[in-house]
Amino acid sequence: MPNTAPATSTTAELIVHDDAVRANTAWFADRTAGRLMAVLKADAFGHGSVAHSVLAAGATSIGVTSVAEALRVRADGVDVPVLSWLNPVDADFASALSADVDLAVSSIELLNAVSRAAAQTGRRARVHLHVDLGMSRDGAPQDTWSALCTAAALLERLGTVRVVGVMGHMSCADRPDDPQNVREGLLFANAVRTARRRGLSGFVTHLAATAATITGVGSGHGLHRIGAGLFGIDPSSTSDALMPTLSLTAPVVSSRTVLAGAGIGYGHDHVVDRTTNLALLPLGYADGLPRAASERAEVHVRGRRRPVVGRFSMDMVVVDTGDDRLHHGETVTVFGRGTAGEPTVADWARWAGTIEHEIVTGIGSRVARVHRSVPDSTDARNASSRKDHARA
Ligand SMILES: *Cc1c(COP(=O)(O)O)cnc(C)c1O
Repeated sequence: MPNTAPATSTTAELIVHDDAVRANTAWFADRTAGRLMAVLKADAFGHGSVAHSVLAAGATSIGVTSVAEALRVRADGVDVPVLSWLNPVDADFASALSADVDLAVSSIELLNAVSRAAAQTGRRARVHLHVDLGMSRDGAPQDTWSALCTAAALLERLGTVRVVGVMGHMSCADRPDDPQNVREGLLFANAVRTARRRGLSGFVTHLAATAATITGVGSGHGLHRIGAGLFGIDPSSTSDALMPTLSLTAPVVSSRTVLAGAGIGYGHDHVVDRTTNLALLPLGYADGLPRAASERAEVHVRGRRRPVVGRFSMDMVVVDTGDDRLHHGETVTVFGRGTAGEPTVADWARWAGTIEHEIVTGIGSRVARVHRSVPDSTDARNASSRKDHARA
């Protein structure tokens, strides 16, 4: 494909490389022998509509947090099991059951609420019991587990629920040598035994997320819940098999030449020490460029890195382009796959002192998601694209 004139665009775009999402999914499907629940919470880690891509690549079910997220997955035309695991006791469980959504419960109160919704809707609820292994977050505390299993077994006999899964979540799986992993593995095995002793059977067990699956500390169970890894993020930093899945580009809104001594942005945190050219990008911290990366971040344009200068604003940032005066509309790559020297999501996470998850889930709703299914090139003109919905 000829690439003589600079690429141009009129709006900022978050390009979702569906081919990379599929490749990452296939890698996990292979590693888990197909026992792969794709975790598409938080709008699929900011990627928008990728359910059909991950299902085509080997995922066999979908996991999300709230009932509202589960209903959105169903509305996307997904007909495999969908599990929702984080809901308050007064959540709309009736709508969940009507849409065939499986529900995780971590207390008798939640179990009873789900059972009531089942009685109302005339549908038997498919339930995963969630045990806390030491995060002190949202599973059932250890000292309540046995009673929860007993209550679930009773409701199974009454016919309102069917326990189809027992789940736990690991706190330290990104550090494979941490003794806490052994402890949590044993606690989970114990919890599963308790569930069986209380009369439950025929359920699938699941413990591992991305880090535990890559490092192997959560193996031996019937399902793996994989989120970050599908989107190229390895919390354990031990694998180089995953591909980055996002590129963020923006058009130059305007450019100007300034003289030595010019201050840039609020507070004049940055003052230029020579005559230089500045380019204005229509992306700021409201669009997910972390303000903490001010004075550290770089972008990629005309084949090279250029520093973002001055304090990030809500809606815009300024790039020092040195001797190059950029044209209005010229496309700047904020981050990409890293194959052409452009920064990656990992670079941005480092500049902001955070993790990649926070960068990818933080891209704001006014940035259009554009799904690309062909490998290579961040140039919007080079490949067939599908624009989600203009999220204005
Ligand atoms: C987010 C989440 C996952 C997925 O974790 P990743 O590290 O993103 O793979 C799995 N299980 C639960 C309970 C989660 O909240």
